[in-house]
Amino acid sequence: MLGPPGAGKGTQAKRLQDRYRIAQISTGDMLRAEVAAGSPIGREAKVVMESGQLVSDDIIIRMLGQRVEQPDAANGFILDGFPRTVPQAQALDRLLADKRMELDGVIELRVDDTALIDRIAGRFTCAKCGTGYHDTFRPTAVAGTCDVCGSHEFTRRADDNRETVGARLEAYHRQTAPILPHYAAQGILHTVDGMADIDEVARQIDGVLPAAH
Ligand code: AMP
Repeated sequence: MLGPPGAGKGTQAKRLQDRYRIAQISTGDMLRAEVAAGSPIGREAKVVMESGQLVSDDIIIRMLGQRVEQPDAANGFILDGFPRTVPQAQALDRLLADKRMELDGVIELRVDDTALIDRIAGRFTCAKCGTGYHDTFRPTAVAGTCDVCGSHEFTRRADDNRETVGARLEAYHRQTAPILPHYAAQGILHTVDGMADIDEVARQIDGVLPAAH
């Protein structure tokens, strides 16, 4: 699942997880867990993430390599926010070849940069069940209460602010977009209009990926 920050990668990856019943692997979520735990990786990643830059390929590739060895990844997985650089894409090719696995498809969610800034600046998440909301586009039905689990606690990402978004978008265009031709050449790149509403984007994605079995 590729696309700029705020394109809806996490939202769509969660839906695919339900559809295929395979693990969703988000390197961003993994890094945020390391930061919350105060681990050595977390301490190194925190400053980089808050500045909107990309964490080093070494750290990411090692972290992902360990994650895909977990039992829940044995039957396949959905990658959300990885790979983000050419070296990461090359590492993924090697890793999949070693595991005798293939990429079924690469989804590029395309969204205008101007829309992304508004999407990102207002988003927040239920601290208990992880449901995503937005101050303007998707508020809770009752202010301060999660629609899904009733919790009153919410979190906002430290890097979801107007200042950092510019750097994150720049990182996407400069470092991540160059990996798209690699997948286009293999005929597995599917570009989906990420400006459509969430259900419509999900329908488009369902249409281009293999049927769940
Ligand atoms: P995300 O939740 O995918 O938007 O990621 C949040 C932040 O974590 C990014 O802005 C990067 O600083 C870092 N990050 C996540 N995934 C990667 C990756 N594959 N490579 C480098 N940095 C990453």
